[in-house]
Amino acid sequence: MNEMPTEILEIDQQKRMALAKQFSECERWLHFGGKGVVRPQNLVPGYSLLSTQHNGDALVVYRDGMLRYLAQTGGYDEVFAEMDRFVSTCQSAHPDPMRLAWQAHRHRADLYHDQQSNLFEVGVTPSLSHELCHLYQLKYEILETLEFLAHLCAINKTGTHDEGLGSLRDTRGRLVKGRAVEFVASGLGLYASLRTAFLNAYNPKLRNTIGHNEYRVSEDSVKSLDGTIEVPAKEFMRSLISLQIVQNAVLYQVSSHAIAPSVELSKYGIAAIGFDREHITDPPLLLVWQLAPLLNRGHRDQWLDRAQFVVRGTRLITRLGTAPEATGDVTEVLEWLSLVAKSGSVHCEFVPVMPCIHLQHDSVMTNWGEFCETGTSTECVVAAEVSESTDMG
Ligand SMILES: [Zn+2]
Repeated sequence: MNEMPTEILEIDQQKRMALAKQFSECERWLHFGGKGVVRPQNLVPGYSLLSTQHNGDALVVYRDGMLRYLAQTGGYDEVFAEMDRFVSTCQSAHPDPMRLAWQAHRHRADLYHDQQSNLFEVGVTPSLSHELCHLYQLKYEILETLEFLAHLCAINKTGTHDEGLGSLRDTRGRLVKGRAVEFVASGLGLYASLRTAFLNAYNPKLRNTIGHNEYRVSEDSVKSLDGTIEVPAKEFMRSLISLQIVQNAVLYQVSSHAIAPSVELSKYGIAAIGFDREHITDPPLLLVWQLAPLLNRGHRDQWLDRAQFVVRGTRLITRLGTAPEATGDVTEVLEWLSLVAKSGSVHCEFVPVMPCIHLQHDSVMTNWGEFCETGTSTECVVAAEVSESTDMG
């Protein structure tokens, strides 16, 4: 699942924040039905590509991948990785109760998905403010995160699904957050990073000030009105960011689980194709830059059995198996195409890409945004044919 390269790339924090902002704005836009016009500079690289490919699941896979990419590049790789491990431990030890837990959360997946629209605002306004306190409170009120984690902990502990989580509720049936936080924290003993992020996120001092709306904000702290509790700005920001990360990690699990298994999802999201004309090889080399979360779905052999190159006037149409076709200019690749025709096959190198947010990194500018390599390429050789079409349509 690790999508990062072994070589450590230095992150350009400004670029990363710009991407997070685009992501947040696009999510809000999608939340309101994708109506109206989004300026191209506000669009996450790759979104318009997937919109033209008309596969809703592919877009969701990429959006989930973006959650993960922003977490990884923000230094929270381990929280996501531990959440993966926790879920798969429960899944393999207790598949039946897990099926019930997924069901319990699936019907809320859409509702929860809406929360994506406010998940990445931190850092845009880096200093302590009432606005940020309000944001913390909004996120804090999302019960899905706590309930999902409590369900996992219950399954892990007892081997059964505790749908109602009765022991964590008050007499009126409301989830008692303090009790739920304690229960979850006690169940995360094997997952140190996740547990730390979780405890930072559900900071009891903030629960008792912001949660009860009795606080005062100054430049360097949040203080309860009665003066008994004070949270320094640094601690507040750590709590807010941790809450965001933990919620995103849960959202990632719930949302990716809701995607129906499909062997063909990995045919979407090819952002650019490169014809290697510098190195003459047999078969000739074709570079395929594909959005990493889709490429990493696997099962390429299910949709890629051959490559077709159709020359139509000055245009070249490239068809890789049943993937959506790509068009480009033919003039510079005629010689390369003649090599393919002679060889009868082509050597494809699939390069996983994501929007480039690194310092001094080679990137590729495509019609759909700027991307760079973010993982290890995979290769395959497939039969290929070159043909000419007189159909000018
Ligand atoms: Zn890069």
